[in-house]
Amino acid sequence: MKLKALQAAFIGLFLTGSLVVSASELRVGAAAVNITPPVGIGMAGYYFERGAQGTNDDLFSKAIVIEHNGARAALVGLDLISTTRAMIEAVRREIEQTTPLRGDHVMISATHAHTGPVLARRGTRESSQGGDTDLSQRYSTELPKRIAESVRLAMSRLQPARASVAVGRAEHLSFNRRFFMTDGTVGWNPGKLNPKIAKPAGPIDPEVGVVLFEAPREKLAAEPLATYVNFAMHPDTVGGEYFSADYPGALSRILAGYKGAGMMTLFANGTCGNINHIDVHWAGPQKGPQEAHRIGTVLAAAVFQAYKQLQQPLKAGSLRARSEIVKLPLPEIKPEDIEKARATVKRYSMKDNSGFMEKVQAYKVLDVAAREGKPQEVEVQVIALGDDLAWVSLPGEIFVELGLAIKKASPFRYTMIAELANGSIGYIPNQEAYPQGNYEVVSARCAAGSGEMLVEAALRLMRELKR
Ligand SMILES: [Zn+2]
Repeated sequence: MKLKALQAAFIGLFLTGSLVVSASELRVGAAAVNITPPVGIGMAGYYFERGAQGTNDDLFSKAIVIEHNGARAALVGLDLISTTRAMIEAVRREIEQTTPLRGDHVMISATHAHTGPVLARRGTRESSQGGDTDLSQRYSTELPKRIAESVRLAMSRLQPARASVAVGRAEHLSFNRRFFMTDGTVGWNPGKLNPKIAKPAGPIDPEVGVVLFEAPREKLAAEPLATYVNFAMHPDTVGGEYFSADYPGALSRILAGYKGAGMMTLFANGTCGNINHIDVHWAGPQKGPQEAHRIGTVLAAAVFQAYKQLQQPLKAGSLRARSEIVKLPLPEIKPEDIEKARATVKRYSMKDNSGFMEKVQAYKVLDVAAREGKPQEVEVQVIALGDDLAWVSLPGEIFVELGLAIKKASPFRYTMIAELANGSIGYIPNQEAYPQGNYEVVSARCAAGSGEMLVEAALRLMRELKR
């Protein structure tokens, strides 16, 4: 009897072993939670006040949880202007309380949608755009729970899956928005058909990174679970006072139209600090929901082309994550700059766009002054799956030159870069851009050389994980 029981147990074990997925297999789950705020809340994106009047299309927190051999990591994409460090810390705490995931194995990025809410406690500028109102404070307090809920749901949906990667291209969709002008200056968004434009002051990144997660189904075609899309371009195409996820929202709807409503698209913006959608050589209007639809469609076409290259599933291999806190130097400000900044903030109304560049300078100075000399402390994170694929997070609006440098030197075959991730300190130009000046440099809350320090940190982490 004893032997029989043992045999039965053994057979049971054997059957279990063959029926359920062995621990070495890849498992993936995906989920989206609606994070559209209440109407009336202040909206982020510009240097003047807007109050949300309604919803064009909903904003989401989208999560993909990946598990391999017991190791877990998650990728989260938010239809928001940015992430704040306080938000990230609250989300990670909540995730650790509600799932077995480690908070520092979660990469949380914002798409940079300009038709979402202001985030409370982000900086002096948001405070003057409604970030201090009850509505905004309540939303920002509730938000980490909703983001963590998307991760918890994705975790609960873990199932055997395979991942495949391809890199598509969108060549004529994004543009460097800084230009060498005929008068020798560097212009920023100089306007359509401006005759003083000589040539772009920098490159773009036309790559469209695509990671498709699918669940194999016996005798049936695999079921698509999620597509991760990585492309570098400001989502500031809709404007106005209605919530919208901008072109990443349009992209999600179009891909779902092909792969099915059950497939979630998680869009992570690449290094687009100086990249937007404005084609200065084209007179056509480029603002409104219809522009988001046009761009979403062109980008979706690049993803559809990339899907055709997804022949071989990725060799999964081990899943690992690593982060580093980097201390970035502050830009120099003098005591008289602070006085001038206070006066500027008083002088110009936030009801309109008057005094734009002076406001940009003033809010930078006030935020830098608030650091009281302490360097910016930011996180760089890398999540690697197997030998070929790495996701890199960067903490701000990063100039494209820096992202291109990371991709070029990356020891991984495929490198996805998510900006505005795990917190943000705003614009981070490359060294070369600082003496050229203009908007992003005036706005930058870190000194020249900071971007290059992030590149070094990302490469260091990738090399460590590659070993
Ligand atoms: Zn921006």
